[in-house]
Amino acid sequence: MKNATGEKIRVLGINRHRMKTDGKGITTLVALPGCPLSCRYCINAWELEQKERMREVTVEELAEELAVDHCYFVYTNGGVTFGGGEPLLQSQALLAFSESCPKEWQINIETSLNVPPKQLKPLLNERFSFIIDVKTMDSDIYRSYTGKEQDLVLQNIASIAERIPDDQYVIKVPEIPEYTTGEDVEKSCRKLFEMGIQKKNIVTFSYVVNNNRIV
Ligand code: SF4
Repeated sequence: MKNATGEKIRVLGINRHRMKTDGKGITTLVALPGCPLSCRYCINAWELEQKERMREVTVEELAEELAVDHCYFVYTNGGVTFGGGEPLLQSQALLAFSESCPKEWQINIETSLNVPPKQLKPLLNERFSFIIDVKTMDSDIYRSYTGKEQDLVLQNIASIAERIPDDQYVIKVPEIPEYTTGEDVEKSCRKLFEMGIQKKNIVTFSYVVNNNRIV
């Protein structure tokens, strides 16, 4: 490992050998705790409550632990995906991790982008790819579904579109049962086009909900 920073990162769980679910190649998902949103169908609500499972390690220790899959990452052009929760709540640790792990590892961030721009800014470079769950571009529906305003998301999408190459981000626009229809999804896509986002960077799909959780 290079240049030990000693920067700490709080980790909720690690899931290895994932394919085609959260980034290119074979990935390891690292779930981080905490989220500013309260989505009605939060897939992670139970896990995020399991504070006793949380551990704090240095980014160097985390990179060493994940290196067990180094060959998979290198041969498949895969790497590490940080999800949660909202990984951008620990953006300094993610930056330190990127400087501690082998440069061949792809680093993906699964995010809602509802964080202050200063937490995204340090990661706006070629080292990071983004999987963005925007939920909806309708501010009223967004507020009703997540319990939060959408202003920060809009600012951060604009920064991603300006600073991140097209092949390094995707924006997910789901149809959300009881909240959005196919027509709402189309409207959200149109708003994204108006912001300069290209069609190839948008993925539409439907949430499947069971017992108030996305499955
Ligand atoms: S953004 Fe994700 S983790 Fe946060 S509340 Fe919504 S579904 Fe849950």
